[in-house]
Amino acid sequence: MAPGNEHRDIIQQSAEAQPTPLVLLKDAVIFPRMRMNINIGRERSLVAVKDARAGSGQFIAGSQRQSSVENPGPEDAFPIATLVEIQSFEPRDENSTAIQIVIEGVKRVRLLDWVQQEPYPTVTWEALTEEEVPAAPGKALLRQAQSLFDRFATLSRRIGTEELESVREITDVSHLADAIASHVVTECELQQEYLSMLNPLDRLEKLCVSLGNEIEILELENKIRQRVRQQVDKNQREYYLKEQLRAIQEELGSDQASEVRELREKMEQKNLPPEILARANKEIDRLERMPAHSAEVGVLRNYLDWILALPWQEVTEDRLDMAHAQEVLDADHYGLEKVKERIVEFLAVRQLRIQQEQRRHQATAHDDEHATKNGGHTNHKGPILCLIGPPGVGKTSLGRSVAQALGRKFVRISLGGVHDEAEIRGHRRTYVSALPGRIIQAMKTAGVRNPVFLLDEIDKLTSDYRGDPSAALLEVLDPEQNSTFTDHYMELPYDLSEVFFICTGNNRYQIPRALADRMDVVEIPGYTEEEKIEIARTHLLPKVLGEHGLGKSQVQIPVNVMRFIVNRYTREAGVRNLERQLATICRKAALRIVQKPNARIRLSERNVEQYLGVTRYSPDKALEYGQVGVATGLAWTSNGGALLPVEVVTMPGKGHLMVTGQLGDVMQESARAGLSYIRSRAPELNLPENFPDDLDIHIHLPEGAIPKDGPSAGITMALAIISALTRQPIRSDLAMTGEITLRGRVLAIGGLKEKTLAAHRVGIRHLIIPEDNVKDLAEIPARIREEMKFTPVATMDQVLKLALMPHKQVDRKGPDAKVTHKSPPPPVLVPTEVTVEGEMPPPAGPEPATETPAI
Ligand code: ADP
Repeated sequence: MAPGNEHRDIIQQSAEAQPTPLVLLKDAVIFPRMRMNINIGRERSLVAVKDARAGSGQFIAGSQRQSSVENPGPEDAFPIATLVEIQSFEPRDENSTAIQIVIEGVKRVRLLDWVQQEPYPTVTWEALTEEEVPAAPGKALLRQAQSLFDRFATLSRRIGTEELESVREITDVSHLADAIASHVVTECELQQEYLSMLNPLDRLEKLCVSLGNEIEILELENKIRQRVRQQVDKNQREYYLKEQLRAIQEELGSDQASEVRELREKMEQKNLPPEILARANKEIDRLERMPAHSAEVGVLRNYLDWILALPWQEVTEDRLDMAHAQEVLDADHYGLEKVKERIVEFLAVRQLRIQQEQRRHQATAHDDEHATKNGGHTNHKGPILCLIGPPGVGKTSLGRSVAQALGRKFVRISLGGVHDEAEIRGHRRTYVSALPGRIIQAMKTAGVRNPVFLLDEIDKLTSDYRGDPSAALLEVLDPEQNSTFTDHYMELPYDLSEVFFICTGNNRYQIPRALADRMDVVEIPGYTEEEKIEIARTHLLPKVLGEHGLGKSQVQIPVNVMRFIVNRYTREAGVRNLERQLATICRKAALRIVQKPNARIRLSERNVEQYLGVTRYSPDKALEYGQVGVATGLAWTSNGGALLPVEVVTMPGKGHLMVTGQLGDVMQESARAGLSYIRSRAPELNLPENFPDDLDIHIHLPEGAIPKDGPSAGITMALAIISALTRQPIRSDLAMTGEITLRGRVLAIGGLKEKTLAAHRVGIRHLIIPEDNVKDLAEIPARIREEMKFTPVATMDQVLKLALMPHKQVDRKGPDAKVTHKSPPPPVLVPTEVTVEGEMPPPAGPEPATETPAI
């Protein structure tokens, strides 16, 4: 029976040899040059193999189409098979008839006729010859196939190293194709297809494609397997760590439950207002429900700690005894009579208000039970005490004394540089490491809800895009609102109404307007030299000695030495530096006394340098002689009064006005106003009407780097300009202060006391002051007032009369002799570029007179 031509690759060969035994394998195909181990159990196959072994040692191994057929006939066999040779032959085991043989493929054959069927089939066959393989493509494909097979072997892990090695050594395309087909292809039908292909190149190429697919699938499988393993690893790790954590927590006994219980107990004991307690309990409930390792646990616990730490109900008993308050203030502070008086009055008013409110409360409580709901607390409405003055005048220590006098706790925060609302009111809890604002923090420090609370440097608050701290502060200070002050962090209303707020600052005009409206401002101007000496003797020295463990008799500083220290080592309105200098002396003295225990130290003007180094300041001197274009003004700074020299020069130019020396806007405007006034009065002042057109005027205020602003140098600047234009010198034994209007009126200024003290300090004894300020003279210490001469003025003309020196006094030696013959001597303009009566102009700028002016 001739099977049909199923494969086009098959090339007919001449029929071969004898009929040969045929053994049909189930689900297996053997390729030429491949070895295979097979078990033979079927009776007919057994006989066939035995006969073959007895004969040529070869038989034909074919494959049956369906493995279920027990006695396959010609129609059950694939037409292409392999001639094989028996390599070994042995029984499977002792008791069985089955055998195990190793066969090796010899060549591909086509089955022709079935000669016999029984006892086993024998067939005639023909050998098949494969097509030629061209060298180059064969080699390339060989390499490609080998590398693919390598990769496949690594990924699949199905191929043993020996087999892999033997495949690597194959150099023939057909051989390699057969080897790969037998290792990689598992499906019998597909294997049969490869067996039937007689073109080795085609065969190998097809195998490469299938290898590629296999590799892709294997790689994907591997990836998935890896991912699955990682996930499992991670889950296991987490589970393991959690278990460990739990075990550790159990060991330490710090489980959340006991902590929550403890928190609850503490909250109960703390005697919180009911609404606060309710909120705290709600938060504790939340804590209880949270997993122990949650990041939020820490935040919540912190918050609960803040609730516990804040004073909600704790108060100190006030001591409302005015005599006692006066005593405390007197004991702590020298002088300051007016300030102390104001403070005691303030306390008295406060006391009356409290009593009044308490009475009202009692009355309403009688009628209405609800009135006592907030614990019967009184809301002390009224202005806030605000102490204003230069640094070191005792504002903070007065605050401390108020606390002591009332028997209250004292806390202080500095508002200098606070520009963010959150600094006052805190950050919301959603921010990492959020905290309450400074107010709540200070309340925690105080530990009671009615301390004396000093808000230092209230004038140094600034505001920017982060919010306006003054608005938050307003809520703190405003008695209408501060009983329910809400911090962003706490999110709970906190009652600040019983806090005694005191504000301090250097400059009352820089306090934010809304705050200033609610304040009762008490100004503390600087001290005079005598006051400083007295404060040093009676307060600072004993205090500093005590701090250094020294006795009164061990370090002695006589009054004249104290004066020397005050004048030569300090220049300030307050006494802070003085205190520091005394501390330096005590430190050095302490060392000497430790080295020589019986030493007594007595300072003198000569030995003081050993303690404080060379003197820092030389005695101030006023200008020594009248100068052209130089006037002495007086300024008020946050550090007290100061001398403010004004210099003016004129030069050829185009009518520009230059103003230099760290001046603020107000002062610039003041200078312009002065100039306009002068222009409007040009004829009276004997100046050409269009005088500044070909002149530049430069005003300079050389005093240090202190920023200067304010209108109070108006008359000084106008005077200096007139002097420069008319070349009339200015008397230098007097100083002046006053604002000028366009029409030459002189207006009142502030800070007269500080300015007077500054002038007195440098030896100036004559002041020109605005008429409207005469009432302020009463504030100046009597001793100073007696030594000074004050000339009140209402107009600029009066200033000119008083301050400009008679022209002839300079004329005698000055370069302007020609202009002096005019009589009576009027102010004369001699600008640089203007020639008067054909003369060369005199040099521009201030010009010292050689003679000291007559006073
Ligand atoms: P301020 O707060 O005004 O800047 P401080 O209150 O810190 O000043 O005062 C500085 C030092 O000077 C403190 O030691 C204070 O006791 C002391 N002092 C200031 N004025 C007086 C005074 N009148 N009597 C006694 N000591 C004073």
